[in-house]
Amino acid sequence: MNKKYDYLIIGAGLYGATFAQQMTQMGKKCLIIEKRDHIAGNIYTKESHNIQIHQYGAHIFHTDNEEVWNYLQQFTVFNGYINSPLARYEGKVYNLPFNMNTFNSLWGVTTPEEAKLKIAEQRGEYADIDPKNLEEQGLKLCGKDIYYTFIKGYTEKQWGRLATELPSFIIKRIPFRFTYDNNYFNDRYQGIPSDGYTQLVANMLEGIEVRTGIDYLEDRAQWDALADKVLYTGCIDAFFGYKLGTLEYRSLRFENEWLMDVEDFQGNAVVNYNEAKVPFTRIIEHKHFNKNQSPHTLITREYPANFSVGDEPYYPINDGPNNKLYHAYKEEAASHPNILFGGRLGLYAYADMDDTVAAALKAVKKELNNK
Ligand code: UDP
Repeated sequence: MNKKYDYLIIGAGLYGATFAQQMTQMGKKCLIIEKRDHIAGNIYTKESHNIQIHQYGAHIFHTDNEEVWNYLQQFTVFNGYINSPLARYEGKVYNLPFNMNTFNSLWGVTTPEEAKLKIAEQRGEYADIDPKNLEEQGLKLCGKDIYYTFIKGYTEKQWGRLATELPSFIIKRIPFRFTYDNNYFNDRYQGIPSDGYTQLVANMLEGIEVRTGIDYLEDRAQWDALADKVLYTGCIDAFFGYKLGTLEYRSLRFENEWLMDVEDFQGNAVVNYNEAKVPFTRIIEHKHFNKNQSPHTLITREYPANFSVGDEPYYPINDGPNNKLYHAYKEEAASHPNILFGGRLGLYAYADMDDTVAAALKAVKKELNNK
């Protein structure tokens, strides 16, 4: 075939960057094209007033995957940040994830034994059910007080639908423990790149040709002609011209506010607002992620938003009908052996960053073994 590139990679996010980096290391020639005017996808950070800003929402890297952790060490130094978000409800502040500090604030219990008894009482008749939806899962896992204080309101505004209409797996992400430990994640490794995620991705892409501000779907034939194979990390339904229908997403709207000469607005990077009546889900104060020194501070209110084609897709809605539609597109994709699909949007998956890197590393191995 003798085309100019071995791989044309659509999207300069974490999946595309990992794939390109590994393939380049194996001697393959890659070209990356990216619709936005910058690399790094949704983990993009930029610096202003000496603060690393997480432009598309807070990203805290955490993993238990040794291979992924070691792989990324080549490109950045993680700063050891430990995520300990807070939850606000009716003017009171509680520790997350649900742990002894939360239980103590809620009920005054002080020992794990007392807390376990209290939770058992709270779970009541839900303890033995087979949860059919997120509400049942929440009540089974945490009981009534926690569910109605911290989960129901937050979840329903986050997803724009009733908790009884949401899949239960969403809530399984929240840790729950009987120690005084406010570390949100259970993983062994955690942190944020000291010089920002954009620099991490830039380091991964060193020596690789990247063109930003280019929409592949607008001139597909021209780009396809350049490479033997394509890795597409955009929305899979968009790739197929939505011919089987549109996949649903939940979107987000970020409202940024610079507070000049305010050194610290909320004393923590992440504060969730769990009441249903507060329209945003959380406020992020960016400087806390990297302990940035600045006389000013930037806060971002995160508003969940409906999605329609053309908006930014953030969270896939992995419910029954959407997963079915995704599988129909996946079958369609199987008849295009020269096109690989990857990333959160290409695979329609609610993926953490480490899962994304792991999936890309696996895809590279599979590709190379098939040759
Ligand atoms: N969640 C909740 N209350 C909280 C935080 C999270 O009910 O205070 C639920 C909510 O349904 C959310 C899910 O847990 O969608 C996962 O939350 P996490 O913070 O892990 O997700 P992120 O939005 O940061 O990916």
